[in-house]
Amino acid sequence: MREPACAAPPDIASCPACAEPLLPNARFCAKCGVSLTPRACAACQASVAIGARFCSSCGVAVAS
Ligand SMILES: [Zn+2]
Ligand SMILES: [Zn+2]
Repeated sequence: MREPACAAPPDIASCPACAEPLLPNARFCAKCGVSLTPRACAACQASVAIGARFCSSCGVAVAS
């Protein structure tokens, strides 16, 4: 198996909302403003994926 070609360097992630390349220390997307800070669900304390609007564990809406 070969590694698939990646458009962006591995240390620079892309915005989950708009796919804009992000700086390693970015806390918000410079293009769309989505928060890039990892959060925990207020109901079940599960970690919520960056850019997610609902907890993947219990389904409660996550405040942005
Ligand atoms: Zn964005
Ligand atoms: Zn939850």
